[in-house]
Amino acid sequence: MTTLPAAAEDITDSYPENLDHEDLLVRRGRRSGLYTFVAIHSTIRGPSLGGCRMWGYADARQALRDALRLSRAMTFKSAVADLPLGGGKGVIMTAPGVALHGELRTAALLDFADTVEALGGRYIAAEDVGTSSRDMRLIAGRTRHVAGLPRRMGGSGDPSPFTALGVESAIRASCERVFGLSSLRGRSVAVIGLGHVGSRVAKRCARAGARLVVGDIDPHKRRLADELGASWLAPDKALEADVDVVAPCALGGVLDHRSVSRLRCRIVAGAANNQLADESVADRLAAREILWAPDFVANAGGIINIAEEQHGYDAAAARRRVRRIGEILLEIFDRADGAGVTPLAAAMDLARVRLAVS
Ligand code: NAD
Repeated sequence: MTTLPAAAEDITDSYPENLDHEDLLVRRGRRSGLYTFVAIHSTIRGPSLGGCRMWGYADARQALRDALRLSRAMTFKSAVADLPLGGGKGVIMTAPGVALHGELRTAALLDFADTVEALGGRYIAAEDVGTSSRDMRLIAGRTRHVAGLPRRMGGSGDPSPFTALGVESAIRASCERVFGLSSLRGRSVAVIGLGHVGSRVAKRCARAGARLVVGDIDPHKRRLADELGASWLAPDKALEADVDVVAPCALGGVLDHRSVSRLRCRIVAGAANNQLADESVADRLAAREILWAPDFVANAGGIINIAEEQHGYDAAAARRRVRRIGEILLEIFDRADGAGVTPLAAAMDLARVRLAVS
């Protein structure tokens, strides 16, 4: 029997060893000798989908912890996005600092493919930290339970443009809530991290008439700032810029009690995963009357796009669904206001409702 997580903090790191998962498969690869893990948190709403992470861990406990906590987070992300998917996660465990290449990498990926196949479709693998679309093509040679393959192979391709579209929708919905208008014309937006997603978010906001501040640790990204007529700042300064919206599009953990006390924006809405150092930061943001669009809602465009593969991929249909992220957020903001809780708590409640009625 599957029990549902009881608290908002379940999506964070706080109780990573809680076992409320349906399945956990740990196998030692017969080709590579490496351990592969697949955690299936929930299939209540559909097959569990989640990335395959190839990462160096000091011990198996850490790898297991990642698989358990990230699979649970996927359950909530897909439920809030109203997708017919559950939550799962794969891990290929390597040693710290060891990147796999050549024959060993191929062997590890094929071993992982066998683990996926053994689950008979209850887990669908996708690209994640440490794996690429090329790796997914290799895995697809041994199991059909792989998503996010290139378009020419019938897959949904690069998720980043869809994630960026969803982040724009989240920014617009947040502006509607705070300023009464979803238009970005004349708004100021700070985009931190100009990678696959952030560069597209910046372009979309510029096209919509926003004034931009951007920052990245990579100085080469300054070229894009010049192209867009954006002000270029060091990332920590961009975070504290006097703007309407801050869009974190780099790494997680960017919002802690210290950084939140320095924010000068009214809204934080971006693509980065795990933006809050811990869930108490959601209360701190609310206390400062800064509207936070929960990251796992704002950045769901990529998974919404992948989910379209389940019934024959159609990019236009995917875009229509991704644009609904704004509506979902407005519902979450309403629920938060109504219950006197943070958007994080309201989003978790919405997920629980959807999991209970599936
Ligand atoms: P990416 O690796 O393409 O880009 C990250 C960018 O951030 C790079 O330009 C890098 O130089 C910059 N960066 C790294 N550390 C930084 C720092 N401390 N300050 C400022 N800039 C920094 O990654 P991406 O695919 O654009 O993803 C960005 C974030 O969005 C990640 O947190 C990712 O987990 C999340 N996300 C991405 C997708 C997707 O579709 N790609 C989907 C959901 C969530």
